[in-house]
Amino acid sequence: MATVILVTGGTGLVGKAIQHIIDTEPEGSRFGKRPNETWIFANSREADLRDPEETKKLFEKYKPTHVIHLAALVGGLFKNMKYKLTFLRDNILINDNVLHTSYKFNTQKVISCLSTCVFPDKVEYPLDENKIHSGPPHESNFGYAHAKRMVDVQNHAYQEEFGCNFTSAIPTNVFGPHDNFDLEDSHVIPGLIHKCYLAKKNGTPFVVSGTGKPLRQFIYSHDLAKLFIWQLREYDDVEPVILSVGENEEVSIKEVADAIVKAVGFTGEYSFDTTRADGQFRKPASNAKLLGLMGGFTFTPFDKALDSTVQWFLQNYNNART
Ligand code: NDP
Repeated sequence: MATVILVTGGTGLVGKAIQHIIDTEPEGSRFGKRPNETWIFANSREADLRDPEETKKLFEKYKPTHVIHLAALVGGLFKNMKYKLTFLRDNILINDNVLHTSYKFNTQKVISCLSTCVFPDKVEYPLDENKIHSGPPHESNFGYAHAKRMVDVQNHAYQEEFGCNFTSAIPTNVFGPHDNFDLEDSHVIPGLIHKCYLAKKNGTPFVVSGTGKPLRQFIYSHDLAKLFIWQLREYDDVEPVILSVGENEEVSIKEVADAIVKAVGFTGEYSFDTTRADGQFRKPASNAKLLGLMGGFTFTPFDKALDSTVQWFLQNYNNART
């Protein structure tokens, strides 16, 4: 039977990675394209998913049997803090339109993308799939977090009332080609890559904010893409799955900066501005459910994935989101 997979947000960091895996893995392999599949990667120019009519037209055009729903208003800390209502409303509208239109069009399966930002601020670590609603999120991003949490609520309600096969994925910090490398409004890895590149180009010091000590779990976008493809084909349950490297694979910000310095080939002055805030020391998430279900998965070593990302940035500087 023909399968049409619509990837919303298909032109962003995660969407481009899924497209890369579908284009490069051997056809018919666990993560490769299947002969009966058509993959559609949509962006906001094709349909602004905040608008129900545009969402409907997108579904009428492609008649997807499956949806990987990545589209979201995303941004760094500053943007999240400044535009809380916009993050709340835009994401509620996007998610509600995608889920309700999927239901109306009898879409067989929808996987929506949440984030570890949705977890409570005060919570016992490690994070796991049962703790999403067990306390308020951090106040800095409560708009984004509440909108994303509602997807899990909606998934349960669509399943209970209409029997829909809707579920969600919870990635930790993602990095890779096609990321947003903006200096002000990006995540830590793309921001530091851009900063280090400029320090090398301008012969200025490379200064990393904070002590470099906090630990984070980073997942390479190409690995995450494979996990989404697995979830699409092999996971049929409403409960979310955390898509992440293991708790024992946390990396410090200093290790990230060291790897960037090496990959960029920066030899100038390099220091940490310890007067700047560090954020939380660690917020580990468990990938036990994922590995138990998949029967193991080999993640790309961090240094290798980081080097590929830096090489992509250097080769695509003029077209990258900077
Ligand atoms: P990007 O910012 O790289 O891409 C966002 C995508 O969403 C783009 O294709 C964009 O299209 C599309 N989009 C945004 N607004 C709309 C809209 N109104 N209508 C239609 N499409 C829209 O995001 P990522 O790839 O980083 O994120 C993908 C998902 O992963 C998101 O749901 C995010 O919350 C989640 N996530 C990301 C993490 C990370 O570290 N990056 C961590 C955890 C979760 P266009 O370019 O045309 O605007």
